Amino acid sequence: MDREILRERLIQLTRDLVLVESTDDRPEERTRCFHLVRNHLEEVAGLEIVMYESHGYESLVAMPAGVEKPDVLLCGHIDVVHHPEPDSYRSEIRDGKIYGPGAGDMKGQVAIMIELIRNLSRECNELSVGVAITSDEERGGEHGVKYLVEDVGLECGVAIIPDGGSLNDIIVEEKGIIHLRLIAEGVSAHAARPWLAENALERVTHAISKIREYFSQFSPGEVDPDDVDTHWFPTCTETMIGTPNDSPNRVPASASAVLDIRFVPPMTSRQILEEIQTLLGQGVSAEAIVIAEPTHLSPDPGFTQITEEVTGIKAQLVRSSGGSDGRFFCAQQIPVLLSRPYVGNLHGRDEWIDIDSMVSYFEICRSYILSKCLKT
Ligand SMILES: [Zn+2]
Repeated sequence: MDREILRERLIQLTRDLVLVESTDDRPEERTRCFHLVRNHLEEVAGLEIVMYESHGYESLVAMPAGVEKPDVLLCGHIDVVHHPEPDSYRSEIRDGKIYGPGAGDMKGQVAIMIELIRNLSRECNELSVGVAITSDEERGGEHGVKYLVEDVGLECGVAIIPDGGSLNDIIVEEKGIIHLRLIAEGVSAHAARPWLAENALERVTHAISKIREYFSQFSPGEVDPDDVDTHWFPTCTETMIGTPNDSPNRVPASASAVLDIRFVPPMTSRQILEEIQTLLGQGVSAEAIVIAEPTHLSPDPGFTQITEEVTGIKAQLVRSSGGSDGRFFCAQQIPVLLSRPYVGNLHGRDEWIDIDSMVSYFEICRSYILSKCLKT
């Protein structure tokens, strides 16, 4: 395969995908994005494409005809985060990188998957390799990978998910996640007579500070942004807060907030939720929106070795503060390989993916899949 042609194809395909505003609030754009992916996969001879849907979220599964459980499954998502600014969904090439929303999370990687399937099917038509592409990863994966694995019964020998780590950083462990909604009820009154009121907003902020105080005991103090090993501790941060109140001189009767909690073994979500219950205070209740236990992935040493051969740099197994769809495969005892090209500014308008590392990642996956699937 000519490296230059591959490079150009990956750039073109990624930029085409970035143009599509496939966000949570635009289901028709997500469908359009799937059409684009399908158009490219449909030209691969002998590939069977099936679309699934759960709660309005589509997923695409493509396998060689007659294969139900591929040796290797490439797994990605086409949904991207919403940007309110107009003309956000465009791309630009600068300093060897493709810039644009979703370029690194993970439309660039979806482009690599499409090219892998196209190339590998030409090289050898007996390969047992499939692709699964979902559209709800950014909101938890429940109607994407979780649905495919648990309800559809999707299986594979190993899942490759290029949605975490880095080119030479292969994820071995991921933190657990709790998205917790706090709801406070109080008593409204004119703000000039606060002694008559029970302020719901104050109740919710008080609960937040109690919970954050609890988590602060785990902080090691100094955190090196570049050293992933110093990130391995529980964290809690508020991501949303509000009240339906629209009057500056009224004490609100209700308020709510959302906390994003990340935790590490041996802690469990149950322990944390029990602890939080004791911290809420009067009139405040808590409801978990997303719960995921920490996951231990078991990366194949063969993948690590191929990564080192292709890049000429030592690969390391690292622990990740972020979560991924990998946890749903892990729950079914399916091994997961989680690394990816160089990416940055994830979820920003100037998100990027490094083009040379896309070609290297393509080469890593190609060699690995050939080593895996040609064995028998
Ligand atoms: Zn992602």
